[in-house]
Amino acid sequence: MKKIAMFVAILAVLVIIPLTALGLQAESRGIEHGQRYDRLVIRNVIVIDGKGTPPRGPLDIVVERNKIAAVSAADARPDAFKNEKHVLDGTGMYLLPGFINSHVHLQDERAGIPQPFEYEYKVWLSCGITTIRDVGSDPKKTLVERRKSQAGSIVAPRLYIYMVAAGDTPEEGRRAVRTIKEQGGDGVKIFGMDRDIMEAIVDESKKLGLKVAHHVGVEETDARDVVAFGVSTVEHWYGVPDAALKGSQNFPPSYNYNNESDRFRWAGRLWREADPAKLEAILTEMVAKGVAWNPTFSTYEACRDMTLARNLPWFKEYLHPALEEYFKPSPARHGAFSWGWSTEDEIAWKENYRIWMKAVRDFADKGGLVGAADDAGFIYTLYGFTYLRELELLQEAGFHPIDVIQCATGNNAKLMGLEDQLGRVRPGFLADLILIDENPLANLKYLYPTGVLDLKDGKEIVRGGIKWTIKDGIVYHTSTLMRDVKDMVSKARAERKNS
Ligand SMILES: [Zn+2]
Repeated sequence: MKKIAMFVAILAVLVIIPLTALGLQAESRGIEHGQRYDRLVIRNVIVIDGKGTPPRGPLDIVVERNKIAAVSAADARPDAFKNEKHVLDGTGMYLLPGFINSHVHLQDERAGIPQPFEYEYKVWLSCGITTIRDVGSDPKKTLVERRKSQAGSIVAPRLYIYMVAAGDTPEEGRRAVRTIKEQGGDGVKIFGMDRDIMEAIVDESKKLGLKVAHHVGVEETDARDVVAFGVSTVEHWYGVPDAALKGSQNFPPSYNYNNESDRFRWAGRLWREADPAKLEAILTEMVAKGVAWNPTFSTYEACRDMTLARNLPWFKEYLHPALEEYFKPSPARHGAFSWGWSTEDEIAWKENYRIWMKAVRDFADKGGLVGAADDAGFIYTLYGFTYLRELELLQEAGFHPIDVIQCATGNNAKLMGLEDQLGRVRPGFLADLILIDENPLANLKYLYPTGVLDLKDGKEIVRGGIKWTIKDGIVYHTSTLMRDVKDMVSKARAERKNS
């Protein structure tokens, strides 16, 4: 049965579509799901680059193995590419650099139930994510996965592994950083830092050429320390309003940071406690010191509307039962704090978002580098889908869709120090590309694998969904990937029922 389905899928992929725009005579040929070619020509496509510039085209893109070899004006001659074996017709399509998700966790279990990495990988690729930055998972597993992805032996995005550095003394912190370097980590993740230990860790990381991502949390340090020590990125938002408070956070006496319910209920209220002038000053300092900001708006969105978050439409077919179990309210699990969530909590969080979004927008206006990431796998956030939601939330924060695409591509490449290889459609860059047959600038929702429900001649149709994701020159047909995801989910659900 599976073989027949695969055969039908390949047939569908190989189907010939005549070119119409510009009167070009061309067709897709020789393209198979999961293959890399010595030479692949993507014809007649409109390009939205990762540098904040408007769409341009039609262009022809030549990919050789895993690199972009040429980008040029579309060749209108009918026989222009008649000797090419592998041609992808991009007529009427938009081509973007592959998205980078700069804050994720590789998860092979949720709530103690196995959930294969393959599930995360295939959803990510279907959502256009060709690179991820893991900021704290089990390095024994993630380093192995990184090797497999580099070799192209698994269907997965590129993996960059930031490892957690900690210690009870500054010297222990330094030693942890040296170990990360020896193990081949791509960067350092810190959270819950005491000031002296943070200073030592950041200093050692700089000496060894490792970037530092800081999830500040409610801790001794805040954005002032981020600025003073020269951290590379602020993850989420903690530590920014904290740096603009008069004194410490005004939490109720009963507050306990280790109580997840307290933690998420009160955290967002910090934005309203922040002094606007002090906030402005710390944003200016962050920009001056080159600290990038990865806000992960989407991670906390459930706080604004818990009912909606629990019932997202893609859960029906694509939510793995392990993750479904993990999401259920429980004091034992991180981010599973939704029990007793109130109308008042939601109203408070909506106001927090207004101030937070304005701060991120102001930060960007001052020249600050803003990334895009989802930190999915917690609080009703599903890998990939939530990343695309992040792009929508960046638009809500006042970013033009072109700038949103830049956050997802060029900016993320830069905050990882990869701006000379990733995030652009330029010869010499790695061939990580997305093709979609709707204009995502008109509606970012077109990017979702589930597309946009629309009406045509009075009938319901679904528009959009990324068609092709190319990672490291390997061409993936996203609906084939999503079918795999659906199969994985329904099998895991059946197994769970029977166990
Ligand atoms: Zn995280």
